[in-house]
Amino acid sequence: MDVELNLAKSISLLRTEKAFEVMAKAKELVSRGQSVINLGIGQPDFKTSHHIVEAACKALIDGYHAYAPANGIIELREAISADVELRCGAKTDPNHIVVVPGGRPTMAFAMLMFGEPGSEILYPDPGYSIYSSLIGFSRATPIPYPLDQKCNFAFSADEVLSRLSPRTRLIILINPANPSGSVASKSELDKLVIGLEKYPNVFVLSDEIYGRITYGNVSHTSLISYEELRERLILLDGCSKTYAMTGWRLGWGIWPASLEQYASYLAVNFFGCVNPVVQYAGIAALVGPQDAVDRMITTFDKRRKILVQSLNRLPGMSCHEPSGAFYAFPNIRATGFSSVELQDRWLEEAGVAIIAGNSFGNQGEGYLRFSYASSTENIQEALRRLEKWLHRNVSSKTDKQSSQILTEEASQCL
Ligand code: PLP
Repeated sequence: MDVELNLAKSISLLRTEKAFEVMAKAKELVSRGQSVINLGIGQPDFKTSHHIVEAACKALIDGYHAYAPANGIIELREAISADVELRCGAKTDPNHIVVVPGGRPTMAFAMLMFGEPGSEILYPDPGYSIYSSLIGFSRATPIPYPLDQKCNFAFSADEVLSRLSPRTRLIILINPANPSGSVASKSELDKLVIGLEKYPNVFVLSDEIYGRITYGNVSHTSLISYEELRERLILLDGCSKTYAMTGWRLGWGIWPASLEQYASYLAVNFFGCVNPVVQYAGIAALVGPQDAVDRMITTFDKRRKILVQSLNRLPGMSCHEPSGAFYAFPNIRATGFSSVELQDRWLEEAGVAIIAGNSFGNQGEGYLRFSYASSTENIQEALRRLEKWLHRNVSSKTDKQSSQILTEEASQCL
């Protein structure tokens, strides 16, 4: 008997994450014997530190096998609060923290709280694609705000403020940004916070999951350091990227007092609680030695320089230096190919997985996301393969076009 599906409309509005699709395709090619270098997926290629793994093993042996509180064990929430105070100088109440499995549930919770037909939610374009998917799912109207292409997709407060309307309920900010790796300047954040004084009903979800990962003299300013925004700020963070723990699924939201209870209710309704063993690992991550994090960032920095320099030598490509996260986002317009064409053909023909820029929004067309959370050897081999492919497939006049694009962009970026 054929089953007739009669589902809620919203379920058909969910989208997937391109990096997961490309990862599955890459695995399939590998299983057929093809060599594939994956610079598509955004996860550190480091192992979780030994002291964190040990803390999880100890928790298992010590018998932490039962339910934990829905909002997370108090020791972890206190460790998160202490970490935020240490890094951002902001005092937070551990009772306003809700521990969840990874970064994503905090996004979903915020959409469930603010999104409904008739409401508007602003999000960055290009930006992590799960946001537009979840806004669509909530049936709110998605309002993309562009990041400045000419300046490595820098965040501009004016672009956000000019799109606010009486229907706006929530603004999403990703800082440091995925896919571009840009870090919002303090002056733009100041401007945003001042501009929002006139819109007391608008809340902000600040995704700072890459907050620790910045380079050179660029530093990350957390929106939680603005006392005047605290009652309307949701801060999203977690262990996935900083502590190389993507598979453990541990994240949290720091909620304003008015929303904490809703977030806890969503947690108890959706998953009950986060695995306590993982929560003990999270405490060890936050309060234990941080030298592995520093080493990881130093390694990313070296790879970042190698990748950006090499990309700029490839025909038809130009790449700004990203200042945070672990992504480079080169402009590929002068190759004459679209983002998806290069994504698909490089995977099939060169054995290199990267992500088309337009999977992060319309502003990303003409760009590709490279993750440098992969070994230097992998990055260098991937670039050798791409160079060969480009020399076979891109005409020499492209070189001239490419340097022209680079010069034009550099002159427009203040
Ligand atoms: N936020 C951003 C900006 C991300 O790039 C990602 C993952 O790539 C997440 C959140 C999700 O993190 P998690 O894997 O912990 O759910």
